[in-house]
Amino acid sequence: MKKIISILSIFAIFSSALFAWELGKYGEFKFQRMGNSNVWIMHGPAMEPNRENRGFMNNPAFIEGKHGLIVIDPGGNYRVGKKVLEEIEKVNKKPILAILNTHKHGDHWFANGAMAEKYPKVRIYAHPNMIKEAKAGEAEKWYGILNRLTGNLEGTKPFKFPAYELKDGQKIAIDGQHFVIHHPKKAHTDTDILIEHKESNTLFLGDNVMKNRLGGFDGSSSILGNIELLEGIMKNGSYDLYVPGHGPSGAKEETVGPFLRYLKTLKKWAQKAYDNDEEYYVYKKEVSKELGPIAKWDAYDHQMGKHLNKVYREIEEKDME
Ligand SMILES: [Zn+2]
Repeated sequence: MKKIISILSIFAIFSSALFAWELGKYGEFKFQRMGNSNVWIMHGPAMEPNRENRGFMNNPAFIEGKHGLIVIDPGGNYRVGKKVLEEIEKVNKKPILAILNTHKHGDHWFANGAMAEKYPKVRIYAHPNMIKEAKAGEAEKWYGILNRLTGNLEGTKPFKFPAYELKDGQKIAIDGQHFVIHHPKKAHTDTDILIEHKESNTLFLGDNVMKNRLGGFDGSSSILGNIELLEGIMKNGSYDLYVPGHGPSGAKEETVGPFLRYLKTLKKWAQKAYDNDEEYYVYKKEVSKELGPIAKWDAYDHQMGKHLNKVYREIEEKDME
């Protein structure tokens, strides 16, 4: 009898660890260790935030230090944050010591509050522009967007803003883990940091790279700046793992390559339209044809035209300088 009970209890321990987070038709989600490193990522469904994914569509990650964990972009709302926390605890019981937020968009940092509720001393870091802009209205704007799309924002307010600043070129050690921060002045937004984790040789790209889905380019972004950033990444440095803001992580060519190709194709055809004194949209068909499988990415149909318009305006603006 004793033996049966112990077998049952072992089974109970294993099964609670095995059951992943069920997210309706999108399947199961859990943290996965990246190779033999101390980096764990739960890749969200690469799509727009909606009611079915409950606003979970980014890539929450954590790095295991000696005494605790360092989380990068915990997710898009308080409730998702609670789920992310549950999933972290299934694979690692150490406390969360720090959170790094890659940029100002709420789908990446609105879950800060759920982590801070359990770990009130957690230090939350971001670029000073992120902190400033989030407080100046960006948080409220994203609350409105995500509330409308997901209906899952309960508990997200009051916002848990980052309180610690990370600047371009800064080197920081947290719990024995070493990070180098890169801030492109203007790419996905003007608030981004790219995070280099030394011990695992990983580069966290934030939304400067997406795969399998497209997101918006807002007023603070620069598509030309994003291209410049990614061309630099393609040329310089070699990391074992590249982690996009949305979509699967992987090697440089397969992760950074497709998004850079997307942006450069937009630029090429917008430039042609501009040079010929034509409207920005005249080569939309050519863009889609050239992009092939990328034209099937989530949100392509309603984002591509906007992006083409944006890069056309940027080319125009540059020409006026
Ligand atoms: Zn973003």
